[in-house]
Parts: sequence; C-alpha cells; structure tokens
Amino acid sequence: MLAGMPTSTVAVLGAGPRGVGWLERFVENVRAGDLGRGAVARGIRLILVDPYQPGPGRLWRYDQSPLLKLNSLAADVTMFTDASCTVEGPIAPGPSLAEWAEQVRSGRLEVVIEDAAVRAELEALGPASFPTRRLQSFYLDWFHQRTLAKLPKGVEVEWRQTTAVSVADDGDRQLVALADGETVAADVVLYALGHNGSALAGEHELLGAFAHEHRACYLAPAFTADADLSALPAGADVIVRGMGLAAIDLVVLLTEGRGGAFEATEGGVRYVPSGREPRLHLGSRRGVPYHSKVTSNLVAPRAAPRFFTRNIAAALGARGGVDFAVEVWPLIAKEGLHGYYHELFLGHPERVRLPWSEFLERFAVLDPWSDELRTLAASALVDPADALDLAVFDRPLAGLEFGDASALQRYLIEYIADDVHRRTAAEHSATLGFFTALLFAFFDLGGSGIEVPPWFKAFFSYVASGPPVHRLEELVALAEAGVVRFLGAELEVRADAAAGKFRASSPSVPGDLVSRYLVDAWLPEDSAHASENPALRDAVRVRADGASVAALLAVHPDDSRVIGPDGEPHSARFAIGPFTSAPNVGAFARPLTDAMSFRENDRVARAVLRLLDELTVRQSLPA
Ligand SMILES: Cc1cc2nc3c(=O)[nH]c(=O)nc-3n(C[C@H](O)[C@H](O)[C@H](O)COP(=O)(O)OP(=O)(O)OC[C@H]3O[C@@H](n4cnc5c(N)ncnc54)[C@H](O)[C@@H]3O)c2cc1C
Repeated sequence: MLAGMPTSTVAVLGAGPRGVGWLERFVENVRAGDLGRGAVARGIRLILVDPYQPGPGRLWRYDQSPLLKLNSLAADVTMFTDASCTVEGPIAPGPSLAEWAEQVRSGRLEVVIEDAAVRAELEALGPASFPTRRLQSFYLDWFHQRTLAKLPKGVEVEWRQTTAVSVADDGDRQLVALADGETVAADVVLYALGHNGSALAGEHELLGAFAHEHRACYLAPAFTADADLSALPAGADVIVRGMGLAAIDLVVLLTEGRGGAFEATEGGVRYVPSGREPRLHLGSRRGVPYHSKVTSNLVAPRAAPRFFTRNIAAALGARGGVDFAVEVWPLIAKEGLHGYYHELFLGHPERVRLPWSEFLERFAVLDPWSDELRTLAASALVDPADALDLAVFDRPLAGLEFGDASALQRYLIEYIADDVHRRTAAEHSATLGFFTALLFAFFDLGGSGIEVPPWFKAFFSYVASGPPVHRLEELVALAEAGVVRFLGAELEVRADAAAGKFRASSPSVPGDLVSRYLVDAWLPEDSAHASENPALRDAVRVRADGASVAALLAVHPDDSRVIGPDGEPHSARFAIGPFTSAPNVGAFARPLTDAMSFRENDRVARAVLRLLDELTVRQSLPA
C-alpha cells in the first residue's frame, strides 16, 4: 500500500445480481491490470450495503416460497461474460445455471445444499428446466463467493447488512447514511438498488381508501413473493386485474400454495383442490395470459435479420427524434414475421405451398398488418391456422362477444391449450422463429439509443417474458376445476359505493362480477420520487423542498454517472439497474448474446477504476 495514503472506498448500494455482477467486472478489470494500478497500490475497499445477502439479494433470496420460479430456462441464465461479449475489460467465462448444476452434480464444484427439495431439483435440472428462485439463490451466492475468492491483493470487500438511507457530498467524499445509524465515507457511490415498491398513488390510493371505508379488501401492485395474501379467504370470489407474470405467481401461491395439487393425466394435468383456495377471476386489457416460453427448436438456420438490423437500429438512433410507432415498430413487426415465415417455409416445407424465395419476394413489399399479407398467407399455407396475424396475436379477444361467462371460459381454455401446443410442438417451431427475431430486434434496439415506449415493452413482455409452459397447462387445469375463471378483455373495475364492493365488467361478456376482493396483479410502477426506497428518493431529490417529478434516476449513457439537478453528471456517483433511465436489461442473461447488462457493468467498473486512479494522483500531489 502507498504509505500515508488512505484506502480508496467504493460504496455499492444494493448487492443483488446487478451489484455483484458489477463487482465481478470490477475485480476482473483490476486483475487485468490496465486500469486501477495506482488505486490498488493504496488499497481499495468495496463496501456492499444490502439488508439481504449479497448475490441473491432481496428478489432471489432463499427465504421465499419454494413454488416460485424463474421465467427463464436454466440454459438461458448466466452471470458470466463469454466470447460474444463486446466488453473492453477481460472476458472471464463461467457456467450458466444449467452448466453449474451439472458441475455441482458431478462433484466438480463443491456447493453445500442442505434443503432436500432444492437438492432434488438440482439433481433433475436440465437446460430446458425452469428453476425455482430458491435454486437461483444458490447459483447467485456461488457466483458472488467465486468473485470474492478472486480478489487481487490490495482489494477488500465488506458487507454491511443494512439499508442505505441517503448520500451527501462532503468535498471530495460521499457520505452514505445507513439505517443502522452509521455513516460510510466513500470516494465513489454506485447505486444498484434494483426493483422498488412505491407509495400508493392515484387510482391505487383511491381503491385502498374505498376498501378501508367499506371493509372490502384491495391488494395494490406488489412483489407477489412479499404480498400478504392471508386476507383472501377460501371460497371468496377475487377479482384479479392483470394476467402477466405477477398474476401467475399469485395463482400459484393461492392454489398449490394453499395445499392444492396437480396430478398428471393421460391428456395433461388435473387440479385437485384443497378447499382452501379462493375463486380467482382473471381479466386484463388483452384478457388472455402472456404467451408461454417456446420449448421447440429451430429446424432451419436462424433467419439473418433483414428488415430491422443492428445497422438500421443504429442509424435511426443516431438520427434522433424517431417516432417509434411510425418508423420503428413496422420494421420490427416485419422482422418478427420474417423470422416466423422463414422457419415455417424452410423448416416445414410440408406446411406451405410456395417456395420460400417466391413468398419472400412478395412479403418484402407488404405492410405487416395489410389485407394483402393476409391474402398472401392464405394462398401460401396448407393450414390457414399457421398464418401469423399480428393484430389477432396481439389482441386475440378484440371484437369477440360471448353469450355468457361459461362460453368465454370454454373459449379461453381452448385458446390457451392451442397456444401451449403452438409453443411446444416441433411442427410449430415457427413460433420460435418469431420469438427469436423479436428478441434480437429488442437487443439491437437496446444498444441503439432509440427511446422505447412503454407499450412496446409491454408487447415484448407479452411475447417473450411469459411463464413456463407448465404454468399455462396448470392454468387450464385450474380453469377446468373452476378455481380460475376468466373475465374477458378491456376489463374495467369500478368501486361501487352503493354496494360497497368492486364491480368488474368486460365487453367480452354481458354482466358484472361484484366482489369485496380486488387484487392488482402487476409489479409496482417505477416511481423514484414516490419510491419506498429512501436512498432512491434521496437520489432524485432535485428541489430544496424535496419534491421531484422524476420517475427514473437519470444517468449518462456513456458511463452511467448519475445526472445531477444541474443536468451535469455527478463526478462520483454511478447507477445501474431498472430504476435508472438506461434501458432495463435485467441482470443475468442468455449466454452468447453480448448481454447489455454485462457491457454496462464493465463500462461502469472501468469508469470507477479510472476515477480512483485520478483521485490517487490528485491526492498524492502536494496540497
Ligand atoms: C418479480 C420479478 C421476477 C423476475 N424474474 C426474472 C426472470 O425469471 N428472469 C430474468 O432474467 N429476469 C427476471 N427479473 C428481472 C430482474 O431485473 C433481474 O432478475 C434482477 O433481479 C435485477 O437485479 P438487480 O440487482 O438490479 O435488482 P434486485 O434483484 O432488485 O436487487 C437489488 C438489491 O438492492 C437492495 N437494495 C435496494 N435498496 C437498497 C438500499 N437503500 N440500501 C441497501 N440495499 C438496497 C435490495 O435489498 C436488493 O438486494 C425479474 C424481476 C422481478 C421484479
């Protein structure tokens, strides 16, 4: 260590997958030696602040229901950089979750798992399994321990098991106030606060007040794993708004989690109720659940992007001022259809009547939503049901009216079963062609600087972030058992003061469902200024009175420095993760996809090392 010079300190606020992923990049960059030599010579102390164990953090902690799962395949989860990664720092490969499980099984990695259920899961885990969040907690913990085992000389890591409350400038130092009453003085602060709840506002606040006044029950958007569901009694009719992942988690916790069981039958699966479940009435704008993950394989090689490529995305991003709906979405839609029909024509020639080259030539000039495309598809396909009509795919219930609730129930059971079939059966691998094309378009979008509107993110989640297939099979079984019922599309919920209850209605069916119980099943919206997280509220404070209008913490696109109230990047504060203005790119990634989160972690790790080197030079000069 440099005699007489104090150690450099970096405070990392939040040590979930993003915080520890950044740490791994930091350590690997120090080990590479091109940056940070001066700082390492004087010593670097990294202080991880998190009330939850570093690695899994809050979201992936072991202590949660064993029924909750990832919506990613085990093969699609890695924390490690690989040959695809365009990072400036070193590439340091390691196992994906599926490979890690295999290495633990074979004894090549020593990981102690005492929980018999998790151990059994690990024994059976394959690349196409959907892991439990509990198993993921072991992978993330192992990943973090591995980073700690690689710490070079001169770098120390310490965990403070508490919450960060605020950060203040003090000359060259950052003073981080902790909930345990202590203060950490740091040279650099990295915010990695992850997903946050926010105070009830707007409609949620009104619904909460209504429920309180009428002794009804309203559960506002929440992280389902943390929600108290005990207020929903057995047999109660519960209106559930939202049919995405939070709704699926809710259904799992209120059915299997209440002692019900799924039994395999010849044709699929049957639900055996425990009698402790409420009756769950599900509806949303679309009125259908998210599409499940695709489990078939591409037969033809992946279609090379043609209508929305990385270069096209970059050119649009560089131009700026892009109208997403008019200039970008039609290209992405076309690319998705291109991926679909490429796989259908080349992977399954028995399902089509035209050569691919002829179809492609005609397809290339058509609008993706046009009647001409519908006519072309109808003439080119053996089974008209193989046509991918984007409007119908997006809003399958639009314009449909059912005579009564049981007709809607039957229709949806068939719709979901058909969707599951199309996403799993080998002959329908075109759905994977569509998914893959959209996924890569989404990646290219992320790196382009094009502003992505919330409605497109929601559409992408509907296509790509759906539940594991078996969850939809279970939903069908629950619907057949009458535990789950469907409310229809364009769901409207009103607080009916005369009845003192909630009233749900949909143009899909006549009649209202009236109930004392309402659950809004989606994640809390990003709202930094109304966040329940004190450090995040503090970070976006822009006026002396503490008020702010920011929904997200603004960061600079180059190095993720926090943009201050003066519009300038703060010299010593950085932020990564879903609460920032950078594209939300998750924390772990599919292998071989040049993951944006790894690139951002690497950029920020290197920016922090550069800053520490500068500070070392500055502080070693005579005053
Ligand atoms: C319910 C849910 C399910 C998801 N499922 C998947 C999935 O299946 N597959 C997938 O790829 N992605 C999934 N994601 C995406 C998710 O973004 C990433 O998986 C990942 O958890 C993000 O990592 P993070 O570290 O940024 O945030 P988080 O995982 O939220 O971690 C943030 C950490 O910061 C800590 N923290 C927050 N505030 C403070 C403070 N003031 N002081 C100290 N510590 C603090 C928290 O305790 C927490 O440990 C899911 C997200 C959610 C919300």
